[in-house]
Amino acid sequence: MRRHYFLEEYCIIAAERRKRPSNFRRERGTETSDPRTCPFCPGNEEMTPPAVAVYTDEGVGSDGDERVRNWWARSFLNLYPAVTAEPLPPTKEWVADRARGFHEVIIESPDHDGDPSKFSRQELERLVTVYRDRYACRIADPGVKFVSIFKNWGRVAGASLSHTHSQLVALPIVPPALLREMEAIRESPRCPYCSLAEREAASDRLIFENDQFVLIAPFVSEVPYETWILPKEHASSLEGLDPRGLEELAEALGEALRRQDRLLSGPAYNYSIRQLPHPRYHLNLRIHPAMSALAGFEKNTGIFINSVPPEVAARELREV
Ligand SMILES: [Zn+2]
Ligand SMILES: [Zn+2]
Repeated sequence: MRRHYFLEEYCIIAAERRKRPSNFRRERGTETSDPRTCPFCPGNEEMTPPAVAVYTDEGVGSDGDERVRNWWARSFLNLYPAVTAEPLPPTKEWVADRARGFHEVIIESPDHDGDPSKFSRQELERLVTVYRDRYACRIADPGVKFVSIFKNWGRVAGASLSHTHSQLVALPIVPPALLREMEAIRESPRCPYCSLAEREAASDRLIFENDQFVLIAPFVSEVPYETWILPKEHASSLEGLDPRGLEELAEALGEALRRQDRLLSGPAYNYSIRQLPHPRYHLNLRIHPAMSALAGFEKNTGIFINSVPPEVAARELREV
């Protein structure tokens, strides 16, 4: 049983379980669908709400009465949102708050068959730049305390449409997991993520590094082949990165997705960005291949059983 670096969180590494038959679900991430009826494809912009941000070669704009064409990324409010700017009043039962917030869908590429693990350097750099811009826009809202940016790739990872896209959910609260982290960070004389990035760069859990980022298989890996990207120099959010930092983040993300794609034959996965507008928080991006469903033990204990030791995962991801 392994304990998280600085939190009361555990996982059990049980390599024997790897031998179990049909242990993994490795369904291909993408599914074929028709670009003509895809609401995320160029030409079908009218099928979505107007974009709050459209990225073209001319710069960033938004949809007016006419939809902007020739974009390379666009973001609009989700038609089926988890949170909205004008929510229903809270219920009187128990404690319930108004789920006020913003829920955006970010189309990362006009290419219907685009696959982030095959994205060019330029496409990856554009992607992280869009993430930074949308984060900066939403975190500036005084009612917003946390901005979740995440990607679901493949049906088993929760994607309902195959055209590559990410989502942003801006919340009026800081999620409990982040509050616990902040508590531990405040108690620590030095940023625990800074120590972690430094230590893991010298460990057998390192997969890739460039000047500003490390890509690691974390010591406490909840799922097989989980990876994290961490800045080596302290930065609390994407807003703390300079242009060179964004380029290197794009490179690290590309390495992570390409290596995972090759080793696991195009798995479904989720990735998410953790960041807070607090100077002591440390930006991190976590990638979870969707290879095993949450079972009863995990739901009962909050402790994950992982059949692939992160040291093995890191070696395989390094060598692939
Ligand atoms: Zn499409
Ligand atoms: Zn730090």
